[in-house]
Amino acid sequence: MTQESNHSPAQADTFLPGPVLLLGAPGVGKGTQAQLLMAGYGIPQISTGDILRDNIARGTDLGKAAKGLMDNGQLVPDDMVNDMVGARLSQRDVQRGYILDGYPRTLGQAEWLDAHLEGLEESAGAVALPLVAINIKVDEQVLLKRITGRRICGKCKHIYNVYFKAPQQEGICDVDGTALQQRSDDTEAAFTERMKAYHSLTAPVIEHYGKQGRFREIDGDRDVEAVTESIREALEQLRQAGN
Ligand code: AMP
Repeated sequence: MTQESNHSPAQADTFLPGPVLLLGAPGVGKGTQAQLLMAGYGIPQISTGDILRDNIARGTDLGKAAKGLMDNGQLVPDDMVNDMVGARLSQRDVQRGYILDGYPRTLGQAEWLDAHLEGLEESAGAVALPLVAINIKVDEQVLLKRITGRRICGKCKHIYNVYFKAPQQEGICDVDGTALQQRSDDTEAAFTERMKAYHSLTAPVIEHYGKQGRFREIDGDRDVEAVTESIREALEQLRQAGN
């Protein structure tokens, strides 16, 4: 994954990204794009999936409660993820903005987040900018290959794909030589379940933010760099428009 950009480092310092939602079906590239935006803008990626996987790896009660649901492609209950996000948003590194990746995934989560941010805007020092939502779209057939072919470096979290972006040496990270891993929910059966949850529960979230005006749809079936550039353009245009 290259991290080239037409933007100068100075812009990364002066541009205030604020809260950004990356929306889209499983496998559209939210994680990859969030990592690139994080590097470009110097703001954190907040991935509820990553936080849950970290809890599973550490054997916490939250991780134990979430594992079975996640392996079957089902959503974790709203209260659990809302609490996680609330705790994460109380940390200091979110002051210039942050990228929410994989959250909110239900209308209940979206409503909780909207109310939580309204509360934060009133408290001193918090980013007062409203949310900007970017929906990444990719055809479902392509998503299946992206999901079942996805491999992730256990150490640096770099993302590969055995069909589209294979590492130079099979199963080994190009960056640091660590063995690549496959997520336990990146199977065809779990993908089918995740798409069902996406259509019934997450599609209304996209409608919800679509109605608010600070929203753009991006074609995610292109080179990673082209998608990143479109997201940057959309985000910066939306912010310039006074949002
Ligand atoms: P992801 O890494 O975003 O693809 O998420 C992997 C799995 O974690 C999902 O299939 C869900 O089981 C769970 N998960 C992640 N984010 C959420 C969320 N916002 N709400 C409910 N479940 C979630």
